[in-house]
This record gives sequence, C-alpha cells and structure tokens, in this order.
Amino acid sequence: MKKKVLVFSRASSAEVMADLRERYELSVFLDPLGADREAFVAALADADGLIGAGSKLDESVLQHAPKLQVISTISAGYDNYDVAYLKQRGIRLTNTPDAVTETTADTGFMLLMMTARRAVELATLVREGEWKASIGEAHFGVDVHGKRLGIIGLGRIGAAVARRAHFGFGMSILYSGHSDKPQYEEEFGARRLPMDALLGEADFVCVCVPLSAETHHLIGEREFGLLRKEAIFINIARGPVVDETALVAALKAGKFRGAGLDVFQKEPLPGDSPLLALPNLVALPHIGSATHEARELMARTAADNLIAVLDGREPAYPVEL
Ligand code: NAP
Repeated sequence: MKKKVLVFSRASSAEVMADLRERYELSVFLDPLGADREAFVAALADADGLIGAGSKLDESVLQHAPKLQVISTISAGYDNYDVAYLKQRGIRLTNTPDAVTETTADTGFMLLMMTARRAVELATLVREGEWKASIGEAHFGVDVHGKRLGIIGLGRIGAAVARRAHFGFGMSILYSGHSDKPQYEEEFGARRLPMDALLGEADFVCVCVPLSAETHHLIGEREFGLLRKEAIFINIARGPVVDETALVAALKAGKFRGAGLDVFQKEPLPGDSPLLALPNLVALPHIGSATHEARELMARTAADNLIAVLDGREPAYPVEL
C-alpha cells in the first residue's frame, strides 16, 4: 500500500508533484490553517509525511498526526516548527538550505543596491512623469563599492552576500556571530567583531541569522542607535529578528540613512504599515528565493529529503533536532 503524503501551503513544481504522486497517495492543501483546515486535520490522521512551506505547524496541528515520520519544509528556515516537540515525537525535519543560498544572496545584494541608490524612489519619479530636470543633490544616493559591509550571521547566505560584495564591489567584510569563520577570513578577508562594534563600524549591515528565541528582536532600539548616520540596514533573514516599531522610530528620527527589507513581522505586510510611509525604506514581498530556478531546485531537494526518510534512508538535509 502506498504511503500517504500531504502537500501543504506551497504547491510544488509539476514535475516533482508527478514524481510524488507516482510514489505516494498524495493530497494537496493550499490553505491548511485557513479554508482547508478541517480537511487537512482529518487527513493528518493517517499521514506518513508532510511537504510544503509557509505554515506554522505546531503541536495543536501535529497532535492529529500520530503516524507522521517526516516534515520536509521547502525552505532553508525552519522557525515555523517547534523542534523540541518534533524531537520528542521522533518526527524527522528536513530543509533545503543550499538550494536557496545564491538566489537569496542575489536578493540581499539587490536590496542593498536599491536602497543605496534610491532605486524605487527614483524609478517612481520617472514613471510618474516627475523627471523634469537633471537629477541633483537632493536625489543623490551613496556609493556601494569600496565600503564596509557588516554581516550578522556569516553562514551560507551571509557568505554568499559577502562574496558578491568583496569580489564584485571591492568591499571589506565584517561579521558577528557565535564562532570564528577562518575559511571566510582567508577567502575574503572577513574580520570578526562583537555585534555592537560591527554596528558602529559598518556602512552597510545585512542580517542573515536564522530566527530563534535567541535572535528574536536581535536588532532593536539600542542596536539601531549604534548605527552610523550614513549606514544602510538590510534584513533578508526573518521579520521578527528586527523590532519593526524601533526600526520605524529610528528611520523617522534620521538615526541612519535607510533600510531594505525582504521580510517582515507580519507577512504579507499590511498596506497601512508605518514602514510604507518612509521614503528611505525599500520593501520587497519576501522574494529571497522567488525565482523559477531556485523554487524548482528547492522542490526537488525537499522531495528527495522526504523520499529518503520514507524509504528509511538518511536525507541529504536533516535539521539537527
Ligand atoms: P546558516 O548557513 O545556518 O547560517 C546562519 C548563520 O547565522 C550561522 O553562521 C550562525 O553562526 C549565525 N547565527 C546564528 N545565531 C546568531 C546570532 N545570535 N548572532 C549572530 N549570528 C548568528 O543559514 P543560511 O542558509 O545562511 O540561512 C539563514 C536564514 O536566512 C534562514 O534561517 C532563513 O530564515 C533566512 N532565509 C531567508 C530567505 C528569504 O526569502 N528572505 C531565504 C532563505 C533563507 P554560527 O555558525 O557561528 O552559529
């Protein structure tokens, strides 16, 4: 008899879905915690595996899945899961880190460039027919090349952003985190500093840490107060790593030059968010990995993880619980 797998929230690529459908009895729930909740919870009763992304599947949901062996998240981050609970239940969790690294780093560097050169603000001016004279000082941006980039969380994505910055734009790299990264010190001259010192030295700060109890509101009023007046702040990690209220207050008070965000406390970002009233804020709709190529690779990687666990093999990307 075929094992039962539920696809949740994010439909996978057609090719990967066809592969999964051949192997398993497959059901798809695009809104598992909303419109499809009742049917999803009922289907959990005999589910062997879950694959998807974007829904917070906690104990209140997973308690209905007594047979569950694996959750394969189609994402690098796994902050939607209570890892202690999964460990206690013996449920394997897998993710897709390498599949998103380069694409998310592209997004991070794009945000950095967009914010430094005021790309959204100035492109809107052209589109609205307001480009009436040669652009003057009031609309100038700041250079990116040759500046100092501080990476908070020099992991896979942080290092990929740093390579773009160092080899492409001649930037020097500072980092903060738990441990020395001698491989990156050698590769692109990264220099480790305590986070407070990094915030005070960098021209650009890019946050690349996973969201956890430790990193929740890692950057708040005190930290924004340490930034240089000319600094630009980028968050491509997760929204709750930043205290958004403090960010709005700091930008309004002109404590630093601007911010570029791909992630928010609440997603989708409500249209009346005070962030959107700030001209020096570039907001993207959580598109770190949103390319055809990355999403296809993520779907394939996640499916391979799921298949490995259900076959009794070790998956390529287990999350250490
Ligand atoms: P990773 O390889 O695990 O790297 C994370 C790094 O963060 C590690 O080097 C770790 O340092 C560091 N870190 C952890 N806690 C820290 C803290 N309190 N202070 C400073 N550094 C800390 O993960 P990754 O693949 O680069 O992904 C990072 C995160 O990006 C994911 O968890 C996800 O939330 C987010 N992400 C966002 C998007 C998007 O669409 N915007 C896409 C993909 C991923 P140590 O090694 O020293 O512990």
